[in-house]
Amino acid sequence: KTGEAKAMTEAHALLKRFYHYLLVYTKEGQAALDFLQARGWTKETIDRFEIGYAPDAPDAAAKLLESHSFSLPMMEKAGLVTKKEDGRYVDRFRNRIMFPIHDHRGETVGFSGRLLGDGQPKYVNSPETPIFRKGMLLYHFHEARVPIRKRQEALLVEGFADVISAVQAGIDYAVATMGTSLTEEQARILRRHAETVTICYDGDSAGTEAAWRAAEQLSALGCRVKVASIPNGLDPDEYIRVHGKERFAGEIAAAQPLMAFKMTHLRRGKNLQHEGDQLRYIEEVLREIGKLPSPVEKDYYVRQLAEEFSLSLSALNEQLSRCERETS
Ligand code: ATP
Ligand code: MN
Ligand code: MN
Ligand code: MN
Repeated sequence: KTGEAKAMTEAHALLKRFYHYLLVYTKEGQAALDFLQARGWTKETIDRFEIGYAPDAPDAAAKLLESHSFSLPMMEKAGLVTKKEDGRYVDRFRNRIMFPIHDHRGETVGFSGRLLGDGQPKYVNSPETPIFRKGMLLYHFHEARVPIRKRQEALLVEGFADVISAVQAGIDYAVATMGTSLTEEQARILRRHAETVTICYDGDSAGTEAAWRAAEQLSALGCRVKVASIPNGLDPDEYIRVHGKERFAGEIAAAQPLMAFKMTHLRRGKNLQHEGDQLRYIEEVLREIGKLPSPVEKDYYVRQLAEEFSLSLSALNEQLSRCERETS
């Protein structure tokens, strides 16, 4: 590790402690603390995730960093401050709830800062820096690695809040991407540590589409993928708050294997009593069956289709070979 990278992670560690102190022990941080507790997060959870508060001041972090002899031009490169036209340095994060982001060794390499209420942008993240490469990291992986290995299963969610609430609910093998779709590198990390990845994205259409894509990616790498669908457009964090941790654990336990998830998804918006919709559905499902690596699995789902729609296995298999030729 270079001297520069070392200084940058030290600066992040310093600010992490500073922000956490402000949140937990000062009057300045009270509104932020109230907001977090109103979300249902306990003192213990706030400590565990080292959540903090960046004050509503132009240069509180810049001053602190300078007083600890960090070079401000380097701190700008680390994404913590920005230089104004008059040459002064100001803080990137102001009046925000601060979620420290760790690399897989547990070094603090970035932050995500959330507004205390509604507004835009809801989150401000650290930019890409020499120590923070978003696409290479999974939020909470440094803590979740051991539980993931033990269970041979990871729970993949969309947001920080979802990880934190899942962990508070006892699911310590949860990780999240950071506001982007799953990258190849993130998928490989999951594959290396777990046989099974359970995806539990937001229960809106964006979440469902993203879950489909992530599932395809993971499954192409050889992961066993399951998808948990959160009802009513809620995200995991909201679901836990509304329905409690037992029901959330139930949703995770009831996660569907990938093909079952796809079938559910492809049914949506179709009326299977209607011939046209029914034929379209069968065609779409066959296309997905064609992508399965295992002949036994293929056979299993073809039989399921045959039974559901009273079709002959030979007709379905013929159509399946046609799909396979088209995609290969
Ligand atoms: P909350 O529950 O605090 O409102 P969320 O996790 O439900 O947050 P989503 O809108 O579902 O927020 O977004 C999921 C993830 O996408 C966030 O955790 C964050 O990592 C990222 N994200 C959301 N909005 C932004 C933004 N404006 N800029 C950068 N990243 C964002
Ligand atoms: Mn969302
Ligand atoms: Mn969400
Ligand atoms: Mn949310």
